[in-house]
Formats: sequence, C-alpha cells, structure tokens
Amino acid sequence: MSNPRTIVIIGGGFAGTTLARELDGKLPPDWELVLISEESYTTFNPMLPEALGASVFPEQVVAPIRQMLSRGRFIMGRVTAVDPAAKVLTCTTLAGETRVAYGHLVLAFGNRARLDLIPGSAEHALPLKTVGDAMHIRNIVLRRVARIELETHPALRKRLGHFVVIGGGFSGVETAGELIDCLESIRRYYPRVGAGELKVTVLQDRPRLLLELSERLGRAAQRSLIRRGVEVRTGAKALAVSAEAVTLADGTMLDTATVICTIGTQPNALVERLGLAVERGRIAVDADLAVPLAPGVWAIGDCAAVPNAFDGTVAPPTAQFAVREARTLAANLLATLSGRPTRRFDYRVRGQMAAIGHRKGVADLFGVPLWGLPAWLLWRAYYLSQMPKMPTFGRKLRIFVEWTWGMFFPNDITHLRFTRSQELAEAPQKAPR
Ligand SMILES: Cc1cc2nc3c(=O)[nH]c(=O)nc-3n(C[C@H](O)[C@H](O)[C@H](O)COP(=O)(O)OP(=O)(O)OC[C@H]3O[C@@H](n4cnc5c(N)ncnc54)[C@H](O)[C@@H]3O)c2cc1C
Repeated sequence: MSNPRTIVIIGGGFAGTTLARELDGKLPPDWELVLISEESYTTFNPMLPEALGASVFPEQVVAPIRQMLSRGRFIMGRVTAVDPAAKVLTCTTLAGETRVAYGHLVLAFGNRARLDLIPGSAEHALPLKTVGDAMHIRNIVLRRVARIELETHPALRKRLGHFVVIGGGFSGVETAGELIDCLESIRRYYPRVGAGELKVTVLQDRPRLLLELSERLGRAAQRSLIRRGVEVRTGAKALAVSAEAVTLADGTMLDTATVICTIGTQPNALVERLGLAVERGRIAVDADLAVPLAPGVWAIGDCAAVPNAFDGTVAPPTAQFAVREARTLAANLLATLSGRPTRRFDYRVRGQMAAIGHRKGVADLFGVPLWGLPAWLLWRAYYLSQMPKMPTFGRKLRIFVEWTWGMFFPNDITHLRFTRSQELAEAPQKAPR
C-alpha cells in the first residue's frame, strides 16, 4: 500500500495549514499533498477569548480548510494509528476507518487541554481550547446572568454572578478582560441584576500577571484589569474546584458557580501511541524538524519539542512559533525532495502582544513596550494581516467590516441554543437548558 509520493500532514491548526499552504502548488507534479484534521476548519486560538466575550462572532475566528488548499486534498478525520514501518496511517472518518499511505508524514496535531490539573476541575471547570469551548462558556455566562434575575436568595445570586478565571498568562488575562467587558456591556439588558452582582476574579499563582512579558507590561495589564473591576489575586494557587467554590492554598474559599481554567495542557493521545521519543510530553525533533530514527517523519507546532538554533532553547508552544516552524519545514521538505540539504530552525521572536478587553492591550515589539489602545490596535492589525490565510476575498471583507462595526457597538447577547423541534415535542415540560 506504501505510496512514497504523498506528503501527509496530520493536524489543521496553525502549523499544519501554514505548511499545507506553503507546499500547495510548489510540490513536484508527481507528488500529492494530503491534510487530515478532525474539524473542517482551522481555529485562530488567540481570538477565542474574544469569541467567548462576544466581541467577535465565532465564524470570525475560524477558516474553512478546504478553501485554503488549491491542489492539496483534505480529509476530515481523526488519525488513530500510524505504522511507520509500512508508512501507512489509519484515520476515522465519516465513512468509517480509512488507511492512507505516505512517503513523508508531518505530525502537527497540537496538544490537548488538561482537564484534571486541579482536583474537581474535570467535573466543574470549563477549559478554553476550542471554538466549542468558547461558545459553551459564552452560553453559560449568559445563562448565569439570566438566572440571577430570577433568583431571590442573595448568596445564590452572588455565587452565580462570580466568574473565576484560573491562570494569569495570556489566555487567562485575555479571558478576564473580555469577560468583564462582556458583563458590563450586557448588564443594561438585565434590569434586575445589580452592578455589584457581577464580578470577575483572576487567579495567578505567581507574583504577577503575564510573566511572558516584561514586568512593566505585566503590571500595566494588571492595573487595567483592576481599573475595570476585575479582582486580580496574585500568589493565589487554586487547590480544589467544586460546583460552588474554588479553594485556594491559603484556605480562602471563593464562592462561584463558574470557573474557567486557562492553564494546563497534555500531550495528544497520538503521541503515546506513536512510540516516539518525547521531551516533556512533546515529540523530540532534530534541528531541521525531522523526527530522529523515523525516516520520512517530521513534527512541528505545539506537539513538537523544536530546538531553536537562534538561542539554543526549545521553542515555546505558541502560534508565532508554529507558523515559523511550518515555513522552515516547507523549505526542508522541498529541499529533501530535490536532494538538497535541509536547514536548522532558527527564529528570533519579533514581539509579543495580548488583547486585554475591548480596545485595550499590551505589547512588546522589538523591545518597545506599548499598552492601551495603541497596543490593542496593533493586535487587531496583526490578526487582520494574518487574514491572507483566511480564504476568499468576500469573507475577509465581511470580517473586516464586522470587526470595525464591533469596535463601536455593544457585544452580542444572543444565547444561541440549537433546540430542535423534536426536543420541544418530546419534553415540553422540561426547563430550557
Ligand atoms: C485560548 C488560547 C489562546 C492563545 N493565545 C495565543 C496568543 O495570543 N499568541 C500565540 O502565539 N499563541 C497563542 N495560543 C497558542 C496557539 O494557539 C498554539 O500555539 C497554536 O495553535 C499551535 O498550533 P498547532 O498547529 O501546533 O496546534 P493546533 O492549533 O492546536 O492545531 C492542531 C490541530 O490538529 C488537529 N488534531 C489533533 N489530533 C488529531 C488527530 N488525531 N487527527 C487529526 N487531527 C488532529 C486538531 O483538531 C487541530 O486542528 C493560544 C492558545 C489558546 C488555546
């Protein structure tokens, strides 16, 4: 079954889709490109907090993979096994189990959210890793606020109105900022909910927020959140989560019905099944992104421990690195097919930025610190500049217009439930979900 003239990429995230687009149309005519991914779209994960906070629509943080490829083939499916000796993989698709043979295989399947990092979190905390997670959290937030209006018990109202975000890194800070803006902007539509009844707390077990950025920017983000009403608890380690509270290491109990956990990842189940060497849960790769002792297998993105020749460190699991690794691998695959030498992955970080709510951000660009509106505009401009990856001009234009519109108008408060007629007929007496 082996077909040495097919390059198969597993994973349609930042790494996989960038690589596919770099290779699409550039491969020798007798080579085929196949991209396999679980969903039919790629997700712009850094914008998930904005989708959660309803400042952008969910369709604006995803892009359909099929429209990104011109000559390459896309298979929607989950890869369940790889046989490196026979160079064949197995994936589960809509049509059942399918086997795909490859000449070169690229592992770009990212990592998964770790749900059980804190006792009780698997049952009671909400992860934020997929667009489905973002929409689920958004609906829960809207449900909590709608329920407060109907409850009379003050303690219950207080618990329902308290949203706790665990994690003071990029996603935690962005989530807290988006949530407070969302609650502030929707409250006017819930006249029976008082201003003091909605609260967001962010928990960070380290001395300050955003350790990835300079102390000055971390503190600027903290001040901005506090000014807007977020309670920032630094040095606060969450020990346990229940349906009604978060318990901190110092014994404090925070009453809350909603805990969003933005920390903790774990390797994709495929990593263990592949039996390859790993470094702290990520697949070990050589300097040119080839997997050692596995001819024809390469790995990039969050699932790979990529050595960065620029500073000798292992590349962090960020979109910025996933995209650069994909570009280096595209060059290395083309070089390999034409018998030329490959090159090392070597990348210098240009900057870092985070949006911390509507029209507020922090950024470090070539060592120049920025915060407030300029940093937020830069962040938005960066994602707009990423739009070439968004397929079709019509879609790009629509997103641009809607983003601009969203800067001046309140967040969308539609609690979209996919209730089907059958459910209404079958259980008319049941409370709405
Ligand atoms: C909430 C959030 C905010 C973030 N913010 C930032 C930020 O501001 N800046 C930044 O640089 N990074 C940010 N990141 C990190 C960034 O999103 C990741 O580093 C990046 O997505 C990694 O790209 P990837 O292609 O390796 O993995 P992913 O983007 O996770 O893609 C992996 C793909 O593989 C698919 N897949 C998995 N298993 C299989 C299988 N068995 N078969 C087929 N397909 C499979 C998945 O469905 C997915 O489509 C954020 C992440 C999150 C969750």
